[in-house]
Amino acid sequence: MKDKILLSLKLLLVILFVVVGSIISVRLWSGKGEKLAKPAELIIKSNMTIAEIGKANDIENIVLKKAFGLQTKEELKRNFSEFSLTQEEAISRINKFMALQAEDASKNWMKIVIKFGLWVAFLIFMFVMVKKKKVKTTNRKWFYFIAVMIFGVILSADPSPMGTIKDNFTLFGAYHVLFPPRLVALALMLLMVILANKFICSWGCQLGTLQDLIFRINKDNKGKPVVPQIKIPFIITNTIRIIFFIIFAAIALIWAFDIIEPVDLFKIFKPATLGIIGIIFAAIIFSLSLVVYRPWCHLFCPFGLIGWIAEKISLNNIKVDYDKCIACGTCIKKCPSTVMEAIIKHKKTIPDCFSCASCIESCPVDAISFNSGKRANPPKEILEKLGEKG
Ligand code: SF4
Ligand code: SF4
Repeated sequence: MKDKILLSLKLLLVILFVVVGSIISVRLWSGKGEKLAKPAELIIKSNMTIAEIGKANDIENIVLKKAFGLQTKEELKRNFSEFSLTQEEAISRINKFMALQAEDASKNWMKIVIKFGLWVAFLIFMFVMVKKKKVKTTNRKWFYFIAVMIFGVILSADPSPMGTIKDNFTLFGAYHVLFPPRLVALALMLLMVILANKFICSWGCQLGTLQDLIFRINKDNKGKPVVPQIKIPFIITNTIRIIFFIIFAAIALIWAFDIIEPVDLFKIFKPATLGIIGIIFAAIIFSLSLVVYRPWCHLFCPFGLIGWIAEKISLNNIKVDYDKCIACGTCIKKCPSTVMEAIIKHKKTIPDCFSCASCIESCPVDAISFNSGKRANPPKEILEKLGEKG
């Protein structure tokens, strides 16, 4: 009972720390919206000049020039009827360029550059630590804490791995445009997944590391979970994640509506934007994180799903040396998810591996490593021994 009360206090403390820290940090940054603009209702009449359209709708000249393909300021005096465009076509084009302009203006570019720079530096550091087998129970929580602090509390909710997918879909659904910097960010994140097995999720994502930290605080002095932790079969979590992704993508592309927005947990790093549904959902997911490993990542995150697919061609990942392995099954027990079991039992579907190195740390004969190259198939004897152990 005492342990459970202590655990609840620890959880509250972590969340409180994140929320209060984020409120302070959001105030210190420029306060730019970092939000997608909504399509505007525009007034266009056939006898208006382009400049008059701009004035009536409060549109910047740069947007008008791009929308109507104008080269000079003089051309803004041309009449709308001179362009072979219907009103709907003109509104759609103006909205497109207004959205791109608003995207550009809403971003805090300095923060984005700093965040990507720090992501690269921190992930390289963690890559070396995992490869050298230096990530242990004693320091793992601290690395998650540092990641939450830097990439979440200090550098806030945007950008995030999930945002690169979510906002690309939403923007495309609303305006049929893609914001090039967002595509570049997505490409960079996927590159990180391909280079080092989802390292951006493992050690860089502010929300992923927060859930991991919460999962790891659910331990008593002997390293046993205070509240029993469960591993939901991957077939269940991934099916939910795929269905959620399809529904999200369809609604975003067809009706230009973002169903993730009200339950976007990255907003914990911008607490004022959470809303009542967000607060309830956050309470559920963060409490669940104590007993289930990274529930948001496994059940809902669009980047989690895309990253899981990209992970299949990752250049570095967890490998087992079957010449050393004694099939004791310790790594399976210590893996917070079902992935180690799938790897060592050579299952067809390998769930997301978050490169946490718990398996590496647990192996009594040092048979597990994080390396490049192809994964070896387990020999029959190993499979038989593990089969006996269930
Ligand atoms: S899967 Fe998890 S860690 Fe990866 S982007 Fe989504 S929330 Fe972050
Ligand atoms: S297999 Fe499991 S324990 Fe090993 S790194 Fe991946 S998630 Fe962690």
